[in-house]
Amino acid sequence: MQPYLGALDWLGSQQDNMTQTLIRWANINSGSENLTGLATMTTELEHAFAPLGANVATLPTPTRQIVNAKGELEQQALGDMLSLRQRPDAPVRILLCGHMDTVFGADHEFQVCRHLDDQTINGPGVTDMKGGLLVMLYGLMALEQFTLKDNIGWEVLINADEELGSPGSAKMLETVAKRNTVGFAFEPATNADGTLAGQRKGSGKFTVVCRGRAAHAGRHFAKGRNAIVALSQCITELASLNGQRDGVTINIGHIHGGGPINVVPDLAQCSIDVRLPSKDDEAWVQDNFNKVIATHQQHDGIEFALHGGFGRQAKHITGKTKRLYEQVVATAGELGMALDWQATGGCCDGNNLAAAGLPNVDTLGVRGGNIHSSDEYIILPSLVERAQLHALLLMKFAAGELSL
Ligand SMILES: [Zn+2]
Repeated sequence: MQPYLGALDWLGSQQDNMTQTLIRWANINSGSENLTGLATMTTELEHAFAPLGANVATLPTPTRQIVNAKGELEQQALGDMLSLRQRPDAPVRILLCGHMDTVFGADHEFQVCRHLDDQTINGPGVTDMKGGLLVMLYGLMALEQFTLKDNIGWEVLINADEELGSPGSAKMLETVAKRNTVGFAFEPATNADGTLAGQRKGSGKFTVVCRGRAAHAGRHFAKGRNAIVALSQCITELASLNGQRDGVTINIGHIHGGGPINVVPDLAQCSIDVRLPSKDDEAWVQDNFNKVIATHQQHDGIEFALHGGFGRQAKHITGKTKRLYEQVVATAGELGMALDWQATGGCCDGNNLAAAGLPNVDTLGVRGGNIHSSDEYIILPSLVERAQLHALLLMKFAAGELSL
């Protein structure tokens, strides 16, 4: 540990700086659809990462396709990505991934931080994952003070659409995954004890649009074709696919349709989140969705359309990925942290990196809880603790003590 102590001690003195920056960042709304807030956040990050002396660029994110309230396809603009590269020609290259967006939009009630006690802050994105971005930054700052830093290169990619499933940044994630040796992402630990996420399910997002025929509910009821009723029948069948294949879940998460109740509604739509343990499950889901839709399509005056598809593939802990997990756990042990990993149904960019062949650990971020809710909190000492783990991993790769 001797060669690493200087950098680790320096991190130990950074708690107040990290906490102050975290509060400033979390008080900036950067919901995935708030492009102004994301731009402000990008400027903050550029400024914070500047001392690292890396090549910095903001990269435009391709648009994503959505189904709007009228049931029509529409392209939606997404926030820019921030990219930094340092020593890209080094033999070992480490990719650091994070996201600046949060699930809390500009009109959400949850906008500012408050202290719950002197060790805990409740705030939007403090844990998922503005705290994680600080862990990423401070680990890199520690590495850049280390004498053997030139043995490794690193690349940072911070996207702005992760909470949407990274539809626009997926291509860039694949590109950066392919040109690096090891991947770290800074999603929060799975629980307040710090447990890492291991195996992750894959995911898909679908929207079913049902069109019927509008009619006056009193005068011409029989002429109408009720899109809400037709969609409801279809939904019941889609939901009944749950339990038919191991580990596959189908969540009807959003439904929308109709208007004034004296009109037979001619439009209804629903959005569905699918989770799958393996890539083989994709064809099963797609086939069954197609079958259900085809059955309901046959009703007179009713028309269905199915949009969407599978975005992220399952991540498995095998081969070099397993070795990396073991190295992270052993390194944490040297710092007195007892870590382990556990499977989760949640997805993140670690799925994307794994699908592109990059061994990665994706929950090196902070400890906290209740993410994606107004009760999200961070355990503040985990900022320094996780930054030390991150820094020690980087330094050990630089010193050749770790390799894959
Ligand atoms: Zn996250």
